[in-house]
Amino acid sequence: MKISSMLSSGGRTFSFEFYPPKKEEDIPALKSAIAELKSLGPDFVSITLSQKYMPKWSFASISNTLALSGVLKHEFSLEVMAHLTTEIIRDRQTLDETLKLVKILGLDNVLALRGDLTPDREGERCFSYASDLVPAVKSGGDFCVGVAAYPEKHPEAPSLEEDVRRLKQKLDAGGEFAITQVFFDNEAFFRFRDAAAAAGVSAPIIPGLMPPTSLRQSDNFVVSQGISVPAALSAGLEKHGGDKEALFAFGLDYAVKQAEDLLSAGVPGLHFYTFNRSRATREVFRRLNPARAA
Ligand code: FAD
Repeated sequence: MKISSMLSSGGRTFSFEFYPPKKEEDIPALKSAIAELKSLGPDFVSITLSQKYMPKWSFASISNTLALSGVLKHEFSLEVMAHLTTEIIRDRQTLDETLKLVKILGLDNVLALRGDLTPDREGERCFSYASDLVPAVKSGGDFCVGVAAYPEKHPEAPSLEEDVRRLKQKLDAGGEFAITQVFFDNEAFFRFRDAAAAAGVSAPIIPGLMPPTSLRQSDNFVVSQGISVPAALSAGLEKHGGDKEALFAFGLDYAVKQAEDLLSAGVPGLHFYTFNRSRATREVFRRLNPARAA
């Protein structure tokens, strides 16, 4: 089922993101996380595409993403969205071959991204930005296409306004909804949502959440992505940083409150970055929506 149909029927989507296992030994833990999270009844799951661990093997990265997508779709009967990036899919032929496999797997949904830049890889790219990939995916089949959004702007963007214009561009090119980067400051999300609406964005924007149950303020992704850490979160991280379980409990409370505020502000869904673990997401979900998590 297309995610656009789920969103247009007025319901809220709850979704989980996984990445393909890096090593064979990671597979059992991943499968048990998936089984536990499946019991919560997510509307869809999404599978990342990255070449971090296989820098020279683009097609191996694509295969990993599609293999896990196939397992989730057919072994676990979940609705799946595969991520595709212009950094890995650099020409039309690779895109066509990838989309053929996406179709064979019976997937209806694709997240079209530029991807994290890999300066070490040589060669021309046929698609420079996500806005180039979106129409290429649309023309390759009857897919629902989502895109990424950045409440605190993409780190390379000169300003939030410019980044919002780029978001509109990829939605106008055929993107049907957006999922955001992780954020911890709901006010930043609301400002971004207002700026997007003022720029003419009408597509649903689904917040991306990561329960900060093991976060450190100095974590590379927080710093490199320019994700702000509000004072209340910062104080909690400082206070509980030396005690794993206390930090976990604090992070859960923070995430539940963040999610509740977002839901009461009418967001069209919540997307959880699971990092292939189930405990934090399961706990947040149980406290948010006990009926689903029963
Ligand atoms: P784009 O929309 O192409 O934007 C990239 C930058 O270029 C932005 O600064 C934008 O403002 C600017 N820009 C856009 N269009 C133009 C233009 N025409 N001219 C000039 N500037 C322009 N990365 C992965 O590698 N694999 C994944 O699976 C993955 N999944 C993700 C899922 C989500 C929900 C999110 C939010 C991010 C994900 N990422 C993933 C990270 C993402 O790929 C990086 O943030 C990447 O740097 C940007 O991708 P994008 O699709 O947002 O790029």
